[in-house]
Amino acid sequence: MDEIGSIVVIGAGQAGYWATRTLRDKGFEGRVVLIGTEAYPPYERPPLSKAVLSGAETIESTYFATEEKLAEVGIELLKNQTASSIDRDNRVVALESGDTIGYDRLMIATGTRVRTLDLPGSDSAPIFYLRDIDECQALQRELTAGRRLVVIGGGLIGLEIAATSRELGCEVTVLEYADRLMARVVGPEISQHFANLHESHGVEIRTGVRLDRFETGENGSNVICEDGSTHAADIIVVGIGAIPNSELAELAGLDVNNGIKVDEYGRTSDPRVFAAGDVTNHFSPWLNRTLRMETWKNAQDQGAAVARVMLGDETPYSENPWGWSNQFGVNLQFLGLPDDWDGAIVRGDPAGGSFSVFYMDGTKLAGVIAVSAAKDVAVSRRLMSNAMDVDPAQLADPDVSLRDLLR
Ligand code: FAD
Ligand code: NAP
Repeated sequence: MDEIGSIVVIGAGQAGYWATRTLRDKGFEGRVVLIGTEAYPPYERPPLSKAVLSGAETIESTYFATEEKLAEVGIELLKNQTASSIDRDNRVVALESGDTIGYDRLMIATGTRVRTLDLPGSDSAPIFYLRDIDECQALQRELTAGRRLVVIGGGLIGLEIAATSRELGCEVTVLEYADRLMARVVGPEISQHFANLHESHGVEIRTGVRLDRFETGENGSNVICEDGSTHAADIIVVGIGAIPNSELAELAGLDVNNGIKVDEYGRTSDPRVFAAGDVTNHFSPWLNRTLRMETWKNAQDQGAAVARVMLGDETPYSENPWGWSNQFGVNLQFLGLPDDWDGAIVRGDPAGGSFSVFYMDGTKLAGVIAVSAAKDVAVSRRLMSNAMDVDPAQLADPDVSLRDLLR
């Protein structure tokens, strides 16, 4: 194809930042432009529900690089700027400000936004969401000891906020629609363990909840469920999932279906346009199927891998999905994506607080979820990378060192 004089990245988040940094690390000498809606340098989001929300760490600690540092390495950050359309024929991105920026290669890394909850009474209820720094700061101001917090959604974000708020002294109730917690990422054994963990710290957990409406008056709000149960709240936090920001791609005529469709190289249906991060529905050679991953590591690694592809390195991005969460000092890690939660093999003692749950695909390991057992994840990663046969009985036996299975 043509010479590459300029690369533009839309979305200055985890994937966008790592893409631009990789372009420079790999010696690309052309123009690199990073367009971001937000008012901050690119930053990472995980601390926003953990150490930053609790006040233990500063907002600045989340920045990947200062604006000065970005300028030093020749990354032109256009913050407070939103891309509004892509003209693929003329290879131009239009901004809401009216400016336009030409490109030879384009990456779309626009991430996701929160799914919002629209029920009778939503407009006047004290509802908070958490996706970015501004929302983190707004929520943080509300989390003082004794306040009543109702968290809607017992997924990763809901539970992390519940744990952080409880540690700050709030009275916390979690209302989850599904019949168990974090059902999207963990099996039933782990859901139960985390329900027990939260309850042991004084968080009220309700699953299988159907919400009906909010009522707000002088003494705060009530969250009212279809069964008539009522939960009083000073603050309501909603964490009910994320939606890909793929409208820009759709408007530009690119293939979109639950995210921007890309192959294992991050290529969209236009050879000059790429995508990475939460917004992609990508083909994973590792899993031999397409998926949309909403994790920190996927965004970083895919952003970097696709940047290399843009420079001519034809190495596919092939990941073994991995993510983590921290709640009440307990570390949760998940590796792999088992097809279902049946046939779980438990190693260790859940009552002791450290254990792992393994899932098999025939004789191979398909996934592991570890609770305060990081070493099990490290060994599992090697067993999976090398596609080694594993004996389930040995996995379950605490007297067999997992390392011995690598021999
Ligand atoms: P984002 O980080 O969302 O970045 C996309 C950026 O694009 C945003 O800044 C957005 O404003 C911008 N943008 C969108 N549209 C436009 C446009 N038209 N023009 C310009 N800019 C645009 N993952 C984990 O693995 N572990 C964790 O512990 C964890 N904790 C999390 C805690 C919180 C509170 C949140 C919100 C997420 C957490 N995640 C965690 C998920 C992880 O942060 C995401 O998977 C990751 O941020 C995705 O990166 P991304 O670059 O694809 O998207
Ligand atoms: P999520 O993991 O999809 O969890 C949302 C939960 O809310 C699901 O269990 C969902 O149940 C439930 N829900 C949906 N509608 C509901 C309703 N009306 N009432 C009550 N519950 C309802 O998403 P999330 O926790 O909101 O996280 C948002 C994003 O941030 C995701 O991209 C996530 O990956 C990311 N994040 C990640 C981490 C981490 O990796 N540690 C931490 C924080 C945030 P159903 O599944 O039945 O719909």
